[in-house]
Amino acid sequence: MEKKNVLSVKNLSKIYSKNGSTTINALNNLNLEVKEGEIFGLLGPNGAGKSTFINILAGTVIKTSGTVNVWGFDLDKNPRQVRASIGIVPQEVNLDPFFSPRKLLELLAGMYGIKKKDRITDDILKLVALDKQSDSYARSLSGGMKRRLLIAKALVHQPPILFLDEPTAGVDLELRQNLWENVKLLNKQGVTIILTTHYLAEAEEMCDRIGILSKGNLVALDGTKNLIDKIKTKIVTFTTDKKLDVNKIDQNKLKIISNNNNKITVSYDKSLMKIEDIFLYFSNQNIKILDITTDDADIEDVYLGLTKN
Ligand code: ADP
Repeated sequence: MEKKNVLSVKNLSKIYSKNGSTTINALNNLNLEVKEGEIFGLLGPNGAGKSTFINILAGTVIKTSGTVNVWGFDLDKNPRQVRASIGIVPQEVNLDPFFSPRKLLELLAGMYGIKKKDRITDDILKLVALDKQSDSYARSLSGGMKRRLLIAKALVHQPPILFLDEPTAGVDLELRQNLWENVKLLNKQGVTIILTTHYLAEAEEMCDRIGILSKGNLVALDGTKNLIDKIKTKIVTFTTDKKLDVNKIDQNKLKIISNNNNKITVSYDKSLMKIEDIFLYFSNQNIKILDITTDDADIEDVYLGLTKN
């Protein structure tokens, strides 16, 4: 069955004006759909427009043009319902040190006007594994627990969609894994997750689909595996003393990008080939390698590659 879209963005643009004269296109005709139950990752380097995107949905930044529909509500017509449909987990930890998790969630529920009998404070605390700490001061919680409390805060009004803005920025490796598990658990309970990150590993581990933003443009949008496979392509340039006879190599595995004089540039999938395999082609033809430059395609390279095209 085709899953329904819980977020649909059409031709979304945001232009900031600076000093009245210079303008910045923070988002450039963005088109994006997120399906119910997905974990969707919005990747991009600093300045790509990720915060602008989240802030438009949160209502703190006004879009310049385009339409945004969240959970069936149009942002222009029903901004309050849009906000009610999303929970936003911010980057920075800002918690009152003297409130316990339970107290904090209860206060927040009161602010949302949720009646006592309709509150799910205990369920939320369990969900983020803070049930044992429910009555401890926030200041006594570990870094990871504080992060989970931020997630809990975003869940008080029971939004079907949760935004995590750089969920593991400044979180050490161990806690990161733990946080990912919590987010996955939430997703299993039916919450659609949208997260921003500039860590490729995080997106790879967490997301069903990934969109890459660069300078306000969506430069890639694909299933995680497809995207990662593209990224795992390695490009190497060899400078040699003689020209390589490319007819004697397996071009199914090793793609020739260019082969001019004594300089040959190839690309290959790191999971299918090793650099040592390529060295053999040269030694078999009695060719000396004078210089090697590699292009280990990490996410930054992919951004660069994608933005060039
Ligand atoms: P990201 O979250 O991916 O780092 P941002 O959305 O914060 O990206 O920024 C996108 C672009 O918009 C950047 O060039 C940034 O300098 C610019 N920008 C963000 N907020 C403002 C603002 N309030 N006024 C002017 N320019 C801004």
